[in-house]
Amino acid sequence: MPGEPCDRADVAIVGGGPAGLAAAVRLRSRGVDRVLVIDREPEAGGIPRHCGHYPFGVREFGRLMKGPAYARRNVEVAQAAGVGIMTGTTVTALGEGPQLTVSSGGGVRSIRADRVLLCTGVRETSRAQRMIGGTKPGGVMSTGALQGLVYLQSLRPFRRPVVLGTELVSFSALMTCRHLGIRPVAMIEPNRTITARAPAGLYPRLFGIPLLLGTQIIEICGDRRVEAVIVREDDGRVRTIETDGVIVSGQFRPEAALLSGSHLAVDPRTGGPEIDQFGRCSDPAFFAAGNMLHPVETAGWCWREGRAVADAIADSLEARIGDRVNALRIADVADPLKYVVPQVIVPDRRPAPIDRLQMRLERPAHGRLVLRKTDGEMTVLGAVDTRPERRITVPLEKLASAGPGEARIVLEGEA
Ligand SMILES: Cc1cc2nc3c(=O)[nH]c(=O)nc-3n(C[C@H](O)[C@H](O)[C@H](O)COP(=O)(O)OP(=O)(O)OC[C@H]3O[C@@H](n4cnc5c(N)ncnc54)[C@H](O)[C@@H]3O)c2cc1C
Repeated sequence: MPGEPCDRADVAIVGGGPAGLAAAVRLRSRGVDRVLVIDREPEAGGIPRHCGHYPFGVREFGRLMKGPAYARRNVEVAQAAGVGIMTGTTVTALGEGPQLTVSSGGGVRSIRADRVLLCTGVRETSRAQRMIGGTKPGGVMSTGALQGLVYLQSLRPFRRPVVLGTELVSFSALMTCRHLGIRPVAMIEPNRTITARAPAGLYPRLFGIPLLLGTQIIEICGDRRVEAVIVREDDGRVRTIETDGVIVSGQFRPEAALLSGSHLAVDPRTGGPEIDQFGRCSDPAFFAAGNMLHPVETAGWCWREGRAVADAIADSLEARIGDRVNALRIADVADPLKYVVPQVIVPDRRPAPIDRLQMRLERPAHGRLVLRKTDGEMTVLGAVDTRPERRITVPLEKLASAGPGEARIVLEGEA
């Protein structure tokens, strides 16, 4: 906006989590001078700041670390590399140029950069988004909010909550509860199997927490505080569980508020930006990496992806990446596929930072993954037999013969 003070960076990175910080360090090592990381939190480090448990950091730093130590290490390495880190600053708008509008205690101002990297991560789906009925008492929160209270503010919001969901993060919620002596009264999963990989299912058993599969929370009851939840079991029976809190965990969505109202193309499947294999958005001055692209991967995955996309940014500053001409665009995926990333494949032989198609399923399924182009051409990508929320990857080389055009990915031969 005219009249606002304006800062300048070669590369501005929105989000100082593992992806953003790893990218920043890599950009500095590639000789990029002014690398600026902007984060709305008082400290950079991202989600691991409040994951007070193992395992983080083994592949990145050769050490088994808890989340907060890992977050601090990422910040220290970035500072030592000469990265500028601006905290307590929220990016509120993205503009062509590129230009960012940022807001902090000091007011609103603009930042101009040659390239922008978006690394704003994910958030869990809220109670309202899951349309759980009942009253609105205190004590209903996401795992992220719980971890923030427990690890950053040393608060104990409840003593005997229920945990809704069985993704990896739901087990992280159980560990967080254990850390403060909170004893969940049940772990509740609408599907008939747990979502995380099998060994995770041992955890509730080990600590005597009933695991209720095929069970829905239909109502949350309580006046000021949660007093009970009403659940419907697989056989239709309805019963009441007394509890003083509800942890609504998982079902991640990208933290993509910035994209709405921006000029960047959004992929309706992921909710994140549409990217090519270089992590490049529809405006080639913007890139994206980390969990905002694919809800949800581990910190280590996002860290490596941030670093790899940084190489593509450094190359693009030297005009060494081709334009999006003759691209293959995977415009859609068919049920039960949930999403595919990247959505655009540019014919370019250089090693791609995102060198595989990444997909997930909505429900357990098996069959043959096929890329079908609108011109009728098809490419078999491989067989899958997997559960929801498990990563499916296909090397991009498998698409080498597909050529340009619009395509869709379908799962054929499903039983
Ligand atoms: C509750 C929860 C628990 C998790 N637990 C684990 C775990 O135990 N192990 C694991 O491997 N993974 C876990 N994850 C997955 C987690 O997303 C990754 O570990 C990793 O943090 C992703 O890195 P990232 O850099 O993509 O994003 P994040 O770490 O989420 O970092 C994004 C950063 O962007 C900032 N930001 C967002 N929007 C703006 C804006 N508009 N302006 C300025 N700054 C902004 C945020 O403040 C944040 O610091 C968890 C995720 C959640 C939500």
